[in-house]
Amino acid sequence: MNIILLGPPGAGKGTQAQRLQQELGMVQLSTGDMLRAAVASGSELGKKAKGIMERGDLVPDELIVGLIEDRIAQPDCAKGFILDGFPRTQAQAEALDRMLATSGAKLDRVVEMEVDEKALTERIVGRFSCAKCGTGYHDSFKRPKVEGVCDVCGSKEFTRRKDDNAETVKTRMAAYRAQTEPLLPYYGVRGVLRKVDGMAPMDTVFRQISAVLAGT
Ligand code: AMP
Repeated sequence: MNIILLGPPGAGKGTQAQRLQQELGMVQLSTGDMLRAAVASGSELGKKAKGIMERGDLVPDELIVGLIEDRIAQPDCAKGFILDGFPRTQAQAEALDRMLATSGAKLDRVVEMEVDEKALTERIVGRFSCAKCGTGYHDSFKRPKVEGVCDVCGSKEFTRRKDDNAETVKTRMAAYRAQTEPLLPYYGVRGVLRKVDGMAPMDTVFRQISAVLAGT
């Protein structure tokens, strides 16, 4: 099964995609994670993307489409993937359609995570993750069980994203509204769009998404 998680920054796409990957064995494809890895490695792509990401703007479509196209062609994606953070523009959505058509794959569901915009800044500025295994945490909503130690791998190193600050969040929200939200009707008319309540507790959201996927 191939799905897209769609929603503004801070809606919980990454958290839910991680869990779907762990529990259902689907592959999480996060363009944000791929770009952050490119920035960290200092690759050509990373050099081009770094400043754009720090401002909160969108990286040009042609760079992102190439990245996803290469990843979707890997054998592990044949068991199903969750797109987290892609597509974000009409051009990316059309490119995805072409990729899927070429490989004979189909898009089963687009899950919209509906959230109250006012809560997003608090969610975003409080988040951090394990530097070793990537497990996500939050200052107020999900602290490690033992302070300073990752629940999953025991590492004591954590990182915060450079773009998770109140100023950049405004730009990221504006990009979402202008370029990504218009994709909802694009998928709505095809009958693949379903909504879940992204403001519910994480476990409830996971159950809602699982129910949506079970209904395919
Ligand atoms: P995310 O981790 O999904 O919040 O993405 C972090 C940043 O990476 C975004 O603010 C953009 O600068 C960039 N980015 C991630 N995915 C895309 C995409 N599909 N198209 C354009 N830029 C992207």
